[in-house]
Amino acid sequence: MPEFDSRVSHKQQSGAASAWARAARVAMMALAAALPVLLCAAFTRYEAERLVRNEAELASNFVVNQVVAIAERARNTARVVAPRAAQPCTELAAALTYGTATEPYIRTLNVVDGDRLVCSSALGKQMPVMHSIAVDGRLPRGDWLAIVPRTPMVADRAALLVGVRAPGARAVIAVVDSQYLLDLLHAAAPLSAYRQAELRVGTGTSLLEASDDTSLASSPLVADTRKLFAGSVINLQLHGEPAHLNEIWGSLLLRYMPWVVVFSALLAWLVHRVQRSRQSRREQLLRAIRGGEFHVEYQPLYGVESGRCEGAEALLRWVRPGIGTVRPDEFIQAAEEDGVIVPLTQHLLKLIARDVMLWGTRPGFHLGINFAPEHLSGEDLLSDVRRFLAQIAGRQIQTVMEITERSIMRNTGQARSNLEALRAEGVQVAIDDFGTGYCALSYLEKFPFDILKIDRGFVLTIDAEGRSAVVLDTIVSLAHSLGARIVAEGVASQEQFEYLRARGAHYVQGFLYAKPMRADVFSRWYGKAGSETCANPQAHA
Ligand code: C2E
Ligand code: CA
Ligand code: CA
Repeated sequence: MPEFDSRVSHKQQSGAASAWARAARVAMMALAAALPVLLCAAFTRYEAERLVRNEAELASNFVVNQVVAIAERARNTARVVAPRAAQPCTELAAALTYGTATEPYIRTLNVVDGDRLVCSSALGKQMPVMHSIAVDGRLPRGDWLAIVPRTPMVADRAALLVGVRAPGARAVIAVVDSQYLLDLLHAAAPLSAYRQAELRVGTGTSLLEASDDTSLASSPLVADTRKLFAGSVINLQLHGEPAHLNEIWGSLLLRYMPWVVVFSALLAWLVHRVQRSRQSRREQLLRAIRGGEFHVEYQPLYGVESGRCEGAEALLRWVRPGIGTVRPDEFIQAAEEDGVIVPLTQHLLKLIARDVMLWGTRPGFHLGINFAPEHLSGEDLLSDVRRFLAQIAGRQIQTVMEITERSIMRNTGQARSNLEALRAEGVQVAIDDFGTGYCALSYLEKFPFDILKIDRGFVLTIDAEGRSAVVLDTIVSLAHSLGARIVAEGVASQEQFEYLRARGAHYVQGFLYAKPMRADVFSRWYGKAGSETCANPQAHA
C-alpha cells in the first residue's frame, strides 16, 4: 500500500520502543542481504555433491564394465583350452603359449589337477599350485574368479585368476596381471578425486588404491556390485576425496556468487525502501491521531420488531487537511499492517465516549464498535474496553464489539478469554461480515457471541422478484439455530428488507434506513425520525 502522503517529512521516534523498532529494521535488512547468499551457498554445495556423485557413478560404471570384459575374455580363452586339458603337458604347452601370446591381459594360462599345477604357459613344468585359492586344499569346481595377493612366479604383485572346469579333476586357470586393473582404477578413479578405491572380484583379497591418510569414517560415494558368471560377483567401492568436493563447490560459488551478491544488495535496498515508506505511513497515522484528524460517523440500526432505531455502528472517518477523505478500509488496513490499529482504536473509543455523552438515546441502545484481530488478542483490550465502559457509564448503552472471522481464527485462546471476560461484564459480541472469511463453522460453537452480522454481499443476492437466496437463507437459519440475533448489513432496497423480515432478521442496517452520520447529525436525526415507530424503514430515510 502506498504512503498516504509522501510529502510528510520523516521524523525519528524516540525511546526504547524506537530503539527496538530500529533493531528490528536492521535485522530485517541483514536477513534480506544474507538469505540469498546462504541459499546460494547451500544450493551450490548440494549441486557440487550431486556432480561428484554423478562423476563417481560414471567412473565406477566404466571400471566395472572393463573388469567384466577382461574376466569374460580370460574365461573364454581358458575355455578354448579346457577340452584338451587332459592331454600331457608336452602336447598342451604350445596351445597354452599361443593363448597367452594372442590374448590381451593374460599373463599365463595354466592347467591344474586337483590343486597341483600340471602345465603352465610360462614354465611348461610341474610345480605346486598356489594354495591361497584352494578351498580346503582343493580348487573350486566349475568356473570361478578370485584375486590373489601373489602367484608362485610373481611374488610382489596381485593377480586375477579365472578358473574354468576341465575334464576329470582338472581345471584351466587364466592369470590376469593386477596391474591392468590398477591402471584402470588409476585412470578412471584417480586419487585426486577419490580417497580410496576398492575392487573385489570373486573370492579372495581386494585390490586397494588409497591415499596415505586413509581414515574412512564416511560411507562410500558409490558401491557398484555386478554379478558375473557362475555366481561370482564384482564389487567396486569409491570413497570421495573432500578436497575434490570443495574444489567443485568453490568453482560453483565463484560462478554464481557475484550475481547473488548483487541480488542480495538489491533485496536489502528494497526492504529498506519498504521500511521507510511504512515508517512514514505509520507516523502519518500517529500524527493524524495527535492532530485530531479522525472523527466518527454513526450508521443507525433498524429494529424489525420495534420498527424504530435500536442502535448504531460507529465507523471511523479520516479527513486529511488539504487532501480530503481517506477510505476507511484503506487506512484501517494500513493501521493493521503498521501496528497502529491499537492506538487508533483507543483513540476511536475516546471519540465515541465524547460523542455519546451528547445523545439522548433510550436505555439499551446498541452501539457497535469494530475491533481489529490484533487488538482482540492483545493485552490492552480488557483495560481499553473497561475504561470506555466507565466513561459511558450512566448512559445505559449496550456496547457491541464487532469482530471479524479473522479474529476468531487468530490466537483463538487469548481472544476468547478476553471476550468471555468482557461478556461477563455486559458487553455483547457480534461476528461481522459473516461468511466472507475463512471461519470453520466449528469455531462458531466454541466462540462466545450474541449477534451475527450478515455481510452486504449476501444481502445483494436477494433479487427484485424475491426468489430465494440460498446461502443467505442458510446463514439465517444457522444464526437462528445457534440462538444468535441477526443484523443484515447493506440493506438498500425495500425487496431486500421484506425478504429479510420474512426470514426473521432482527435488525437491518443500510442505506434504505440511514447512511452513516456525524455525531451531532445523528443525535438530531435520532431525536426526530430515529425514535419514532414505523413499519417501513424507508420512511425514516
Ligand atoms: P463494516 O464494519 O462492514 O462497515 C460497514 C460498511 O458498510 C461501512 O463502510 C458502511 O458505510 C457501509 N454500508 C452500510 N450500509 C451500506 C449500504 O446500504 N450500501 C453500501 N454500499 N454500503 C453500506 P465504511 O464506513 O466505508 O467502512 C468500511 C470498513 O472499514 C468497515 O466495514 C470496517 O471493516 C472498517 N472500519 C470502519 N470503521 C472502523 C473502525 O472504527 N475500526 C475498525 N477496526 N474498522 C473500521
Ligand atoms: Ca462492522
Ligand atoms: Ca460488516
